[in-house]
Amino acid sequence: MKGLFPIEKFGHIRTPFYYYDTELLRKTLDTIKEEAQKHEGFCVHYAIKANANPKVLRYIREAGFGADCVSGGEVEASLRAGFPASKIVYAGVGKSDWEINLGLDNDIFCFNVESIPELNVINELAHQKGKIARVAFRLNPNVGAHTHANITTGLAENKFGIDMRDMVKVMEETANMENIKVVGLHFHIGSQILDMGDFEALCNRINDLQLELERHHLTVEHINVGGGLGIDYQHPNRVPIPDFKSYFNTFAKKLKLRPGQTLHFELGRSVVAQCGTLITRTLYVKEGYVKKFAIVDAGFTDLIRPALYQAYHKIENLSSDEASESYDVVGPICESTDVFAKQIDLNKVHRDDLIAIRSAGAYGEIMASSYNCRTLPQGYTSDEFV
Ligand code: PLP
Repeated sequence: MKGLFPIEKFGHIRTPFYYYDTELLRKTLDTIKEEAQKHEGFCVHYAIKANANPKVLRYIREAGFGADCVSGGEVEASLRAGFPASKIVYAGVGKSDWEINLGLDNDIFCFNVESIPELNVINELAHQKGKIARVAFRLNPNVGAHTHANITTGLAENKFGIDMRDMVKVMEETANMENIKVVGLHFHIGSQILDMGDFEALCNRINDLQLELERHHLTVEHINVGGGLGIDYQHPNRVPIPDFKSYFNTFAKKLKLRPGQTLHFELGRSVVAQCGTLITRTLYVKEGYVKKFAIVDAGFTDLIRPALYQAYHKIENLSSDEASESYDVVGPICESTDVFAKQIDLNKVHRDDLIAIRSAGAYGEIMASSYNCRTLPQGYTSDEFV
């Protein structure tokens, strides 16, 4: 056992692989439930896009969460994992007909609709089935989140959602659609957000919008504020569970819900990121003139965040206690962006050492590809090693 990992049991497993600490996952889920339940009408959906490993989904479903999906494949994965259709929300700017039909056939809780052309298609398909589709409008609140530019979604320049200025017109037009029931308003401003001020800004926008709608005698059953709560990538041991208390308190204090209105959340990263680690083996230590490379058997095909948005992941050598040295940790893929970290200190690395790339539970396994004809790594839960 080194730190959190039963490395003596890793010997026979093909690397790289994802390791999910189910004790931490359970504690995280318990914390979310405990903090959300302090506020009336708070409902938490898990954003399947963060990690759809069936073993991980089972824990989340057992904890009673709903599911937030952004494709028909994710709706299928949620149903397979046993999430009740009545707790499935489905967003996405480009839903194909089969995906909409899947949602209709299963009577999902709600479609988060992102454009008027999409609304018309849902109305038509629902009409063909003699069903009423429950929809929430995804609105673009034009709130900039203090996060990486590639993961902000709530700005006017982003492709997501309907412009807030068009909302009253859209709601009034929808009143005439026979096969649509408008039940909610949906927002999502971005991901890896740690500044509660960004969520406060979102609350203020929603408060203004609700007032505006009421002036036109329009109300909805629920508000959905999306996901986005960030995690501490620098300190996965010190801060394994994000500050859900402050997160939920921010909405409880700042968002003016109407009587009976429920508030929905779609949390992804904050639920699963810290429980996951990418375990990889060192193939070679290459001594260059200016630096040393630890060449490992995982690449950006297995964890793309560092290559995609220069994301930081804490890296540890699980096999060595020798004095630290500086390394670039790189993968075997034929691309110069296949770098996990540059000039980081690791306990002296040797061939075959196991390296842990931490906080890889979200947007890791799910974004894996087989580029270079690589095999997709397996995911294991910690309870498989006891
Ligand atoms: N909801 C929607 C619509 C999203 O696009 C995303 C992610 O981008 C999420 C929820 C989950 O976000 P996060 O993993 O940051 O909580």
